[in-house]
Amino acid sequence: MFKRILVANRGEIAARIIRTCRLLGIETIAVYSEPDNGSLHVRMADKAARLNTAGKGDGYLDIDQLVGVASKLGADAVHPGYGFLSEDWKFASACERAGIRFIGPPPRTLASVSNKVSCKGIAQSRGIPTVEGSGPITGLRQALRIAHELGYPILLKPVRGGGGRGIRTINDDGEMSEVFKALPRVGIGPSGFFLERYISPVRHLEVQTASDGHGKVIHLGERECTIQRRYQKLIEMTPAPLLREASRERLLDYAIRLMKGLSYENIGTVEFVMDTDENFYFTEVNPRLQVEHPITEAISGVDLVELQLRIASGEGIVLDQEEVHFKGAAIECRINAEDPVDLLPSIGRITEWHIPTGMGIRVETAVSRGSSITSHYDPLLAKLVAWGENLKGARTRMLQALDEFYVRGIKTTIPLHKIILNDRRLLRGGLNTMSVENGDIRQKLVDTVFRERALSVQVGAAIAATMMEMDLRAKPNYTGNEHNGRAEPAHSMSGRFYEAI
Ligand code: ADP
Ligand code: ADP
Ligand code: MG
Repeated sequence: MFKRILVANRGEIAARIIRTCRLLGIETIAVYSEPDNGSLHVRMADKAARLNTAGKGDGYLDIDQLVGVASKLGADAVHPGYGFLSEDWKFASACERAGIRFIGPPPRTLASVSNKVSCKGIAQSRGIPTVEGSGPITGLRQALRIAHELGYPILLKPVRGGGGRGIRTINDDGEMSEVFKALPRVGIGPSGFFLERYISPVRHLEVQTASDGHGKVIHLGERECTIQRRYQKLIEMTPAPLLREASRERLLDYAIRLMKGLSYENIGTVEFVMDTDENFYFTEVNPRLQVEHPITEAISGVDLVELQLRIASGEGIVLDQEEVHFKGAAIECRINAEDPVDLLPSIGRITEWHIPTGMGIRVETAVSRGSSITSHYDPLLAKLVAWGENLKGARTRMLQALDEFYVRGIKTTIPLHKIILNDRRLLRGGLNTMSVENGDIRQKLVDTVFRERALSVQVGAAIAATMMEMDLRAKPNYTGNEHNGRAEPAHSMSGRFYEAI
């Protein structure tokens, strides 16, 4: 096993990785950019190195500097987390060249899976269905021809995308021309994109796999990640609700077959979209630890970071498929610093922060009261995970935890999560990837927000009136609690009044 690991990441995922390293008696090195000075991962690690960002962009993306720090401080391995350089074959290769183990698949695997078009080709050659689509697009005329073949609406995707970034639906020739005009402005040439048939409605299902690099591939079940906004996951659950057993078997088999075909090593996630007839179409492989990995840990009892470390250090996978047992169900809500209505980032300082706890509840976070939230990094504040005997039980716990979760100073997605968790269609597989953006969920949220706001103003006004009556003679200038011309919303731990909205 490794002696000292550099964690090339920040936030909740860096803290989560350090936690497992500590359990295994491995020393850790944190890296941080200046604004992250004093943040949780820096405090948790045995050593911390500040990244010099002068003129170099983001330190967390600076391969030379990260490898330099790792070598200098004697790290024998680097864990990249998710996002940043986690899928970058050049980073993996620079680590290996410096004699440092990259905790993830080898550079050649990263290079082949990070290209969605070539990865789809490998899947097809193994008999795994993929979404009909093009190779990299070289110009508008070609794009229009393919769009006419496949039909509008069509999906434009970056060949090396991630986190839902850059994906867009295009409805007609006019929109296609507009998009192509805009491409140079965002600094991406047209060859960086491909087109895909837009399947609607779809659910997103994925399989967690682990491979030892010597032919052994196991799965740790599937995850349903249909609840998204802007093609990025908001709520994930496992097992997938109301999926026919035969479909589930087929899904798991596709994933294992693909990982074998790729001679994959370490853990990885195989993502699919599923149409209403339970046909699966492979979309991509995420060759790393996934944001939503805790729900798999909750039902399998396997620490996925530990598994990554054991595979990378050459210990392999001691578990056989028959020894993987699932118990119960788990749901994760991504608590983002976002306005729940327009889903735009919410920045500012967290003035109050109370996180839920209790049986079956796990919170992964690196922020606390006083933390400043900027738009510089991704908006994830916390991952709230609830376990239950079944999905219904997990949902009940989640709703209670969401009620207890109390944040002030910035807006969060908590009110949105409550509405989705209360939607009866959620556990019946009745929602699709566009339900949050286009369905009635948004309308419900808007209605709730305005009702709660109106109510809180009424309550505020009533309290103010009573207090004024009581205090009128003693304090003639008392103006109740109407600061800044707006009543301060009353709030309770039951979350009935959302200050954060
Ligand atoms: P997961 O599939 O693990 O849920 P996401 O697709 O939500 O992962 O991505 C996780 C995070 O990693 C995102 O919030 C985003 O910040 C970051 N990320 C992933 N891929 C990329 C990429 N290619 N470019 C930039 N950021 C990325
Ligand atoms: P990323 O690498 O950015 O995560 P993905 O290929 O995984 O990109 O797609 C992200 C999301 O976009 C999927 O989870 C799904 O909601 C949607 N999506 C992807 N491909 C299709 C498709 N062909 N039809 C409909 N929706 C799709
Ligand atoms: Mg994806």
